[in-house]
Amino acid sequence: MRLTRIYLDCELRPGSLVELPPVAAAHVAKVLRARSGDELTLFNGDGREFAGTVEEVRGSRVKAAVGSGRLADRESPLLLTLIQCVPRGDRMDFIVQKATELGVARIAPVLSERSVVRLDQAQAQSKTAHWRGIAVGACEQSGRNRLPRIDPPQPLIDHLGATTGTDLKLVLEPDAGTSTLPAEPGAVHIAIGPEGGFAPAELEAFRIAGFERIGLGPRILRAETAAIAALAWLQTRWGDMR
Ligand code: SAH
Repeated sequence: MRLTRIYLDCELRPGSLVELPPVAAAHVAKVLRARSGDELTLFNGDGREFAGTVEEVRGSRVKAAVGSGRLADRESPLLLTLIQCVPRGDRMDFIVQKATELGVARIAPVLSERSVVRLDQAQAQSKTAHWRGIAVGACEQSGRNRLPRIDPPQPLIDHLGATTGTDLKLVLEPDAGTSTLPAEPGAVHIAIGPEGGFAPAELEAFRIAGFERIGLGPRILRAETAAIAALAWLQTRWGDMR
């Protein structure tokens, strides 16, 4: 059986003891009913994973001993940035989880003209922290030893204004014509609209920022379906799902 993987936001030094973060500790203590001597895998996002051994369980507090570490690279050679208009409800949570499993390097949540969601600064901050937590959980579950970068949500136009570089840039748009794509891009940015789609002025801003429109077949997909389908398609075409 695969060992439970736990992310810690601290240095992992073989031979040292670490206290597991509260949520992970509660899971290990109460759900898995771990006892001292049980084995875990620990990682901190630096690309390595470490053997861990439960040292002490006290209520819902758990200490673990850090064993030897090894590089375990499960990152895609294709650097994927998902520019996602935040859909309403908790669908963004689902998108962050699935995109992390599918190997995105970065998620840029954006708000566009037709976005239903509005966030003040405090809400934006707490959403960012919440999404980062979901990405951590998806890394624990999927075996990734690096966390995707998750930007704070910002207006789409601000994101586009800050986009530079020669990466392949695509915007998903149901009415896109055919386009010629490069043979082997090393990095792709892919933008997905909100429930109401992108406004004409936004499509123009994408064009100016060097984005190419691309379709995903004749059916209209919900934003979360579009995100999963697009990432799976990109990983299959140029990444590590071929
Ligand atoms: N009501 C909108 C569709 C919104 S779907 C319209 O008719 O244009 C949400 C987003 O998913 C879209 O903005 C687009 O980025 C993406 N999307 C959904 N289906 C798609 C398809 N078949 N091809 C390309 N993009 C699609």
